[in-house]
Amino acid sequence: MQKIFIFCLFLISACTSTTLKTDSDVTRKQFVILPEFMALSMANEGYQQAKQKALEHKQLNQDVYLLNEVRKISYRLIDEVRYFRPDASDWKWEVNLQTSDEINAYCMPGGKIMVFTGLIDKAAKTNDEIAAVVGHEIAHALREHGRERMSTALVQQLGILGFAIYISDSSDNRELKNLAVQGVALGTTLFFALPNSREQEREADKIGLELAARAGYNPLAAVSLWRKMDELSDMQPPEFLSTHPSNQSRIDDLQIQAKKIMYLYEENKIRFTNN
Ligand SMILES: [Zn+2]
Repeated sequence: MQKIFIFCLFLISACTSTTLKTDSDVTRKQFVILPEFMALSMANEGYQQAKQKALEHKQLNQDVYLLNEVRKISYRLIDEVRYFRPDASDWKWEVNLQTSDEINAYCMPGGKIMVFTGLIDKAAKTNDEIAAVVGHEIAHALREHGRERMSTALVQQLGILGFAIYISDSSDNRELKNLAVQGVALGTTLFFALPNSREQEREADKIGLELAARAGYNPLAAVSLWRKMDELSDMQPPEFLSTHPSNQSRIDDLQIQAKKIMYLYEENKIRFTNN
């Protein structure tokens, strides 16, 4: 019993908000038990592999003009990450462009960004719209949503193992043991895995909009972008949209939130008028 109590204390102590409270008011406490260095090393490995594969297929940074544009926009956003977490300014940021029809973009833990040309060709046609997508992806990395999901998966595994050991110590009934193991697996899946991802998307939307506004990009571009995504998903659902469902309520939320932080865009766009 004492061991379980210590384990629970350990789990509670792993709950913290990865970003500071800012104008977009994202303050949810997160469960991040997986050590940061492990998440970073896995992400780094994955990014290097993705880059290598793109290089072999002659898909890496082929369009130099577009690459420079994407990098210019991304680094303007990266300059503003300090408002959310000062340590992220020192991350080893990388921004690359992959030639692909796929509508996709991602930012891995630690700031490893990849933008697919399909996203720009088919949807994000203005700098403001590119900033909306990249800002959203950077927000996922700042909030460490990847590490959070990995932590959840880890606890599911550890939880099942720990509870099975506990039951096998305290009971001789094999059926009860099996039932207990199944129950814990289902419970942890429902408790952790399901409600989180929608909340993570909402957080990435909010922080992404603020990041864009602070960098002098019009946050309302997120609304026009996701409308286009919505139309594209009617024709042929791209992979990106399966994890980013673009429905009317999401677009409505983006519009409300964009208007709320419009003042940040008005304040900051002046700094970039000559760029
Ligand atoms: Zn997202």
